[in-house]
Amino acid sequence: MDPFDNNSTERANLPRNMIENSMFEEEPDVVDLAKEPTAFPTFPSLDPEDVTYEPRSSRLLVRGLGENDMDEDEEDCESSARLLGMSFMNRSSAHRSTSSPYTRQSPPRSCPRPSTRTTVVCVLFLVIVASMTMVLYFLPGCTFTKTGCVKPNKTTPSEPVYPVSTNGELFPWAQYRLPRSIRPLSYDLDLNPKLEDMTFSGRTLIKMSVLHNTKRIVLHSASLNISKATFKLGNGEAKDVTILEYKPRQQIAVKFSDELKAGQFCVLTLDYSASLSHSYSGFYNSSYSDKDGQRRVLAATQFEPLSARKAFPCFDEPDFKATFVIKITRKPNYMALSNMPLAKITQLPNGLMKDEFEKTSVNMSTYLVAFIVANFTPISKNVSETLVSVYSVPEKTEHTDYALDTASKLLEFYNGFFEINYPLKKLDLVAIPDFLAGAMENWGLITFRETSLLVDKLSSPLEKQVVASVVAHELAHQWFGNLVTMSWWNDLWLNEGFATYMQYTSLQAVFPQLDIGNLFLAVRFRALDKDALNSSHAVSTNVNTPEQVEEMFDSVSYEKGASILLMLNAFLPGDQQFRKGIIRYLRQFTGLNTNTDDLWNSLTQVDVSTQHLNVSEMMTSWTSQKGFPLVTVTHKGDEVTVTQEHFLLTSDNATHTSSLWHIPVTYVNDSCSLAPECKQVFTLKTESGSFKQPESVKWLKMNYKNTGFYIVHYGDEGWNAIGQALSNNVSVLTQEDRASLIHNIFALSRLGRVSFDRVLNLLNYISNETETSPVTEALLQLNNILQLLDKRQEQILVARMKNYILQKFGSLMNKQTWEEEENVSKQELRSALLETACSLNEENCVQRAKALFKQYVDSNGTSRIPGDLQQTVFNVAAQSNDDWETLLTAYGQVNYNAEKRKMLRGLASTHDARRIVSILLLSLSGDIIQTQELPLVIYTLCKEIPGYLFAWDFVQEHWDKLIEKFPVGSFPLQAIIKSTTSQFSTQAHFDQVQCFFSGLKERGSQMRSVQEALETIRLNQRWMNKNLSVLRKLL
Ligand SMILES: [Zn+2]
Repeated sequence: MDPFDNNSTERANLPRNMIENSMFEEEPDVVDLAKEPTAFPTFPSLDPEDVTYEPRSSRLLVRGLGENDMDEDEEDCESSARLLGMSFMNRSSAHRSTSSPYTRQSPPRSCPRPSTRTTVVCVLFLVIVASMTMVLYFLPGCTFTKTGCVKPNKTTPSEPVYPVSTNGELFPWAQYRLPRSIRPLSYDLDLNPKLEDMTFSGRTLIKMSVLHNTKRIVLHSASLNISKATFKLGNGEAKDVTILEYKPRQQIAVKFSDELKAGQFCVLTLDYSASLSHSYSGFYNSSYSDKDGQRRVLAATQFEPLSARKAFPCFDEPDFKATFVIKITRKPNYMALSNMPLAKITQLPNGLMKDEFEKTSVNMSTYLVAFIVANFTPISKNVSETLVSVYSVPEKTEHTDYALDTASKLLEFYNGFFEINYPLKKLDLVAIPDFLAGAMENWGLITFRETSLLVDKLSSPLEKQVVASVVAHELAHQWFGNLVTMSWWNDLWLNEGFATYMQYTSLQAVFPQLDIGNLFLAVRFRALDKDALNSSHAVSTNVNTPEQVEEMFDSVSYEKGASILLMLNAFLPGDQQFRKGIIRYLRQFTGLNTNTDDLWNSLTQVDVSTQHLNVSEMMTSWTSQKGFPLVTVTHKGDEVTVTQEHFLLTSDNATHTSSLWHIPVTYVNDSCSLAPECKQVFTLKTESGSFKQPESVKWLKMNYKNTGFYIVHYGDEGWNAIGQALSNNVSVLTQEDRASLIHNIFALSRLGRVSFDRVLNLLNYISNETETSPVTEALLQLNNILQLLDKRQEQILVARMKNYILQKFGSLMNKQTWEEEENVSKQELRSALLETACSLNEENCVQRAKALFKQYVDSNGTSRIPGDLQQTVFNVAAQSNDDWETLLTAYGQVNYNAEKRKMLRGLASTHDARRIVSILLLSLSGDIIQTQELPLVIYTLCKEIPGYLFAWDFVQEHWDKLIEKFPVGSFPLQAIIKSTTSQFSTQAHFDQVQCFFSGLKERGSQMRSVQEALETIRLNQRWMNKNLSVLRKLL
């Protein structure tokens, strides 16, 4: 999936991290048990996995109270006692909240002083724990086990505490992950969507094999009303069975009195009905206005990660792969699409048509299943053995040519690169009018946002770059993700890091004119910025709850994943070893599931004639621990010493970790610094190491072209020498290396290792800089500081900073043209420069932008604003009352979505309070502005003071509606939190944010992005305290 907004600046700035905080684990399910005194029967037969997966509730409590090393029986007794103590505490805290768990508990800014409440709760808790301990102590041998008060029995293993199903019976499973005793083999799905009343009914037939003796079948189902269930064992007769449901974990189960035996086959058939979802996941409805203004409805699916269960009952985990036969009933004027080609159409007596699709020729994870009922039109082309088609609403067919051409070329490229042909006979790419993610790689039926797939005839190369890049990402998934799939979401990076890496490398190979290198470099910088926080996580990390799964879709899985693959590829000898390794991996695991070690082992096993590298040893240090190293280099005589430590931004400077990485440290020096042959490598595995350089060497630049995932500190002398060299001649280093120096020095300033005058020292050379990457990186960093100063109302410093930026970049800004430009890199450069110039009210820029907008309006749409300048022009126009209205009208009329989005960003950049409120409410309701745009609207609003002041209040007031639309932990929600809080830098704001989120409990308090938000505010606070006076002196 590509969850990101397809605008590179947003992509670079959106938040993607999550918390690793066991204290926020969900409440144990003890309330049910307390209510249900009879709910302690014994399940005599336990599956082997009962032992493997420890029940969450007792685990939480034992850990929560800091006790270790108890023996089994002790633990059973102790944890039960604590269970009750905890349950009381949880319920007492629940009483403080309103009746719905979905409602936040404290209105904004009414957070009670923690001291009083915390004290009361703590005292209460201690009293309860003490009383319960006493009770247990005086009830010798009596434990609260399932059989009530019984003596501990040394031979009985501790049994999990089962929750209660909706019908009052005990639900036979107590974990998020499903038991492994039953394996689905195939699904027959028969679906009847009724678009007129937004409901659907279905029948799902699942053939399964029994792997271990068991008395239960447990699978997923969410929001489905199951009306009938039958079960058939082997060749026996089908019998009606009762379905138990445990809604909090979205699970259903069938219990059997006799054991199902390993080796048996069985069939479960379920009839059900449900509403089409109003959010963006599951089987959901979407609508759009056609060219006559008529509202058209359609239904589409988005299942990754956990929503297939909302469309059909299934074993909804990635390693339960199976085959699928899908049948969909539709009206004659609609069409249906699914993963496989259409096999047959049957006319039904009621006038409806039933489409049956071929059985999937591959075993597939449930999250990759997809179907659509709509009236789209396609264009198609044969590529090798595959029919490639691009579908859109009929009005937009003219915008599909580019996608078809791009997808065809990339499919051929991947077929050759992986040496495994795409395995299906067809590949559809579909633009969905209402779609939250950027795109989704469903096998054979890739779905996209319209802006990620459709390209206007006159679109600029930069807009084509966006589409090509998303198509390249999703096509790479057909191998990485679909053919070989991660076993569980903890290794999501195997899908996403790879697809992200391949998206950049395939475009560099197939469409070099799209100049994707600058973007890849920028996203690596942003991945470093995120991963520097304490709230970051290891690339491969434990996840369990749905929220934790959602939160894996972040920059660590995607962009850090891609960055470490780039580092590995650059390090391996020869240019084919990496490719050979991944071909080996794909062949070895075709149709199967893998974990991170499988990949590293495949890469290690590839024969290297000269040296045997242990890829596994090296790469595990990058995937199993969070963060990345800071490499400090000192140079004395002919000896160069390098040391490594964890680059960890912490607000108190107190946390030190002993993490070490296996770092391929690359470097060039002043005698040879540009060509790839200049690159030398030193492998640093320990805390420090040294190597020799000729004494004549004046300076070293480490991390050649920033292909390594680390930051370098050169010490005062080193930075001086490099700064001096750049001032004498900009071209002594590649533009990637110059950009990397700029990124690194700002990061070091944030870490507190270099003073801000050292940063400005390096930037002395920047007025001679003309290349895209260094200029855009410097502008981004300076703009970030400007934004912080602006939001702190440091008006004098804001004015000085603006002057500084204009002084450094003014002449380059004035050199930019306003006509059509074909070169992507030049487009990136001028759009960054001119957007900044106009936002700083640079007179020349503002006048040119106004004139261009007037020309555009007067021409009635015949005169076009160059695509890369549209944003600058719309932002300027939106500051005038009349032009804002004109822009709003145009927004309603424009058909091409990329342009429409830029208009929306222009509209949201207004300073007018009423308009700000109205845009926010319109986006939330989804009537005129689609709700999928809300994260973008909030991001844009927050750049300007008035919008920034409203947005945080808006988020607090409408939190419940937000989490209805965007699941807790999901990428859009992460983005919203980041946008609204990342410019706060005061204690008052810190308290507000902390107070609001802690009141949410399971409705959001546990999100990693909350931790990240708090950390960021603290770091902003620290940076400001340290640097405000410095800035007053320097600027
Ligand atoms: Zn993806």
